[in-house]
Amino acid sequence: MTATPKPSPPLPQWKVPFIDLRATWAREREDLLGIMDEVAGDARFILRQEVEELEQRSASFLDVPHAVGVGNGTDAITLGLRIAGIGAGDEVITVAHTFVATVASIVHCGATPVLVDIGEDFLMNPDLLERAITRRTRAIIPVHMNGRCCDMPRILDVAQRHGLLVIEDAAQAFGATLNGIHAGAFGIAAAFSFHPMKVLSCCGDGGLLTVRDAAMAEHARRLRHHGQRNKTEIVHFGFNSRLDNLQAAILLYRLRKLETTLAQRRSIAQKYHTGLANHDKIKLPPHFGLPGDSHQDIVSGFVLRLSKRDDLKRHLAERGIETFAHWSPPMHHWEGLHLKASLPVTERISSEVLSLPVFPEMTDDQVDWVIGSILSF
Ligand SMILES: *Cc1c(COP(=O)(O)O)cnc(C)c1O
Repeated sequence: MTATPKPSPPLPQWKVPFIDLRATWAREREDLLGIMDEVAGDARFILRQEVEELEQRSASFLDVPHAVGVGNGTDAITLGLRIAGIGAGDEVITVAHTFVATVASIVHCGATPVLVDIGEDFLMNPDLLERAITRRTRAIIPVHMNGRCCDMPRILDVAQRHGLLVIEDAAQAFGATLNGIHAGAFGIAAAFSFHPMKVLSCCGDGGLLTVRDAAMAEHARRLRHHGQRNKTEIVHFGFNSRLDNLQAAILLYRLRKLETTLAQRRSIAQKYHTGLANHDKIKLPPHFGLPGDSHQDIVSGFVLRLSKRDDLKRHLAERGIETFAHWSPPMHHWEGLHLKASLPVTERISSEVLSLPVFPEMTDDQVDWVIGSILSF
């Protein structure tokens, strides 16, 4: 006798949820059911035309030579490191102000993560890179947090002068640009995630690895599919980390609408900037897209900073607003990860950050309710 699994508890009902995936589904339901029916009805499940088409369309959207669909963003980082030949004995520089997956991928390749501090923009501080380089350093993983590109010209400059590879963690940044260049088009490879919490997301797990070099892209295609070439020849050991074909079909549909989605997110960020500009206790994230600005962010998160973060979080929850204090405590404080670092800015910022709701279906009333609730704090 097997027990029937308990039904999942209902998601809490917020007046303003952090994101509203049910609203997204309701809006897209008819289209997506049609797409899924067509794909499943034709039994196109593994590495079929939708995966290939998504790879081609993503590569052309991002202006990168190759894109390889994989199981999730974490695997995209891991495979990116593998095709770059990173392994035991190597050091890889990255940040602690990121999702744990960035650092886990380095560890799973057998390499050693070296953590550097961030700047006031939540991103890798390029000034600190040189001091972190040793004889064993092989690569740098900049993380485009909150959908904003790191200072890539300066990071690439350091990398070039020291012969290091740059692999971007662009999990939160599909569509972000710096000087008109897309996140993902700076390094030798870049990792994207399509997790439901990301801006371009699927209905489950999914990821993409973009690659500059053709032979390295082929290596990634083999690694995701048990080391196989031409579907039959086994060339080396690999993994099972393919982007699911149904998810690829959903992503193709959402990729076509991405510019609209990004415009909606940017307009919400703009309203927050205007509405909260004069609050003297709250520091707003970098403004972007103003005349002369080189950044076009995708607002994966709209992250405030304030010393009474936990009080504001409670205050907003009482008003039905869901927020997150992402990456708090800072990653190197989790004992079980055995990471050693002294990162004063990361530590201070992690005690101050609060991410506000941003999602395409968010109404003007909801945005105003968040702004008003913060102003009344
Ligand atoms: C989401 C995320 C990942 C991991 O992506 P998954 O698809 O969840 O494996 C890696 N890095 C960053 C910065 C992320 O936000």
